[in-house]
Amino acid sequence: MLTRVRSAVASLMGGVMAGGSGGEQPGGSDLPLKFPYGRAEFLGLSPDEVECSADHIARPILILKETRRLPWSTGYAEVINAGKSTLNEDQACCEVLVIKRRPSETSTPNRTPSARRRSSLPNGEGPSLNLDASEDLTFHYWALFDGHAGSGAAVVASRLLHHHIALHLQEVMEILRTPNLVPPTCMDEEPINHLLNATSHRALTRAASLRGAAGAPGSPSTPPTRFFMEKKVSQESLVIGAIENAFKDMDVQIQKEKESYNISGGCTALMVLCLQGKLYVGNAGDSRAIVIRAGEVIPMSAEFTPESERQRLQFLAYMQPHLLGNEFTHLEFPRRVQRKEVGKKMLYRDFTMSGWAYKTIDDDDLKFPLIYGEGKKARVLATIGVTRGLGDHNLKVHDSNIYIKPFLSCCPEVRVYPLSECEHGADDVLVLGTDGLWDVLSNKEVAEAVTCFLANCDPDDQHRYTMAAQDLIMRARGVLKDQGWRISNDRLGSGDDISVFIIPLVCGNKQD
Ligand code: MG
Repeated sequence: MLTRVRSAVASLMGGVMAGGSGGEQPGGSDLPLKFPYGRAEFLGLSPDEVECSADHIARPILILKETRRLPWSTGYAEVINAGKSTLNEDQACCEVLVIKRRPSETSTPNRTPSARRRSSLPNGEGPSLNLDASEDLTFHYWALFDGHAGSGAAVVASRLLHHHIALHLQEVMEILRTPNLVPPTCMDEEPINHLLNATSHRALTRAASLRGAAGAPGSPSTPPTRFFMEKKVSQESLVIGAIENAFKDMDVQIQKEKESYNISGGCTALMVLCLQGKLYVGNAGDSRAIVIRAGEVIPMSAEFTPESERQRLQFLAYMQPHLLGNEFTHLEFPRRVQRKEVGKKMLYRDFTMSGWAYKTIDDDDLKFPLIYGEGKKARVLATIGVTRGLGDHNLKVHDSNIYIKPFLSCCPEVRVYPLSECEHGADDVLVLGTDGLWDVLSNKEVAEAVTCFLANCDPDDQHRYTMAAQDLIMRARGVLKDQGWRISNDRLGSGDDISVFIIPLVCGNKQD
């Protein structure tokens, strides 16, 4: 049954706008586009407006139109880069999704969609932190994708990742819909309604244990008691697992569909899901999310870069040296080793070390380092500056047959914020930004700017969060002067694409 649902949903997603016209993406492929290039649907831009938004000289800041609202009065603004790529390679998505029960649990066999979008646009709506009175499960979703080597993967992920998340949540929705239910260790493939009739968690856990056991406790074949110990898994962990698997499925779909469509490059992905009073922040890449509460910053993501992931990458290369193609070394040295230094001792570190030690240099150490460079210039295999993301299946080291993909992982880190357990004021927000924002503004600068801006707004103005997002982009882009884009204190402004969501947290509390 699950397979049938999967293929039906894949077909639904695969068929939408396939090979659409309008807009072009770089990539040099003759294959049709999976989706045409465009800006976020919720901006409601005409083709002319999309074209104007790509002016690298004026760099207009795009915001929500007056007539449009996002859920929770979320603010959004974006600007294109200063010329590093023809198109804006950032993409955004904001949706309210309602997950329906699986077809096998309804009397209509051929109803297959896993989720439907609620008509959140253009008028917007408030969130619901409680379960629907009906049998549906509703979640709110915001996401930013930062493309590289083309906008194709970012466009596809912005249109489809939330459907993959909905599909995985659908698999466990009966458990999630039952307050305080401890997820059973084993579950039948078929409907699990029988679980819902159980009256206590103890009974559920025990029933699951017994189904997996070889015999009844006390019988001659019963293993010792220690084999009956079970790890208790929380409902929260099920949601995190659903997000993690959705990222993997999204990546597999991009890989498969690259055979039929032109899906250029790869992208980072940062998403937020609000479900049952909790915010789940999933991040794969170098975008960033922070909560600003009473002016204080609570980081909700960590960037995945060659430097932050050095030990994972070095361990992978150590275990599978063939991935380095005999051209790279998994060891790190403070600088490139020169031939004349063979036989001498030099500082190095491997995957087991955070500190440094000396080793005697041999010929193998002359190879190019797996990770090279510092800060924003650090690269994996001299090719890519992020270590998590979607797509990039065909990306190779220049002029070689060495693939980047095993080192570039699609797995996100998911952090949870207990939204409904915290009190929030009108100026408490969750800020999502692509690296174009964070390259030039620190967490503290962003928090101060947003807090100060909102404090000076009319609290009843529904567009205050959009104006705050616009103000942030302005501070990061700066103004064009003789020497280029400049921000405060005559620092260099960001020349990258910049996209920002500002999500008010007080809206969540109001819905209780
Ligand atoms: Mg960027």
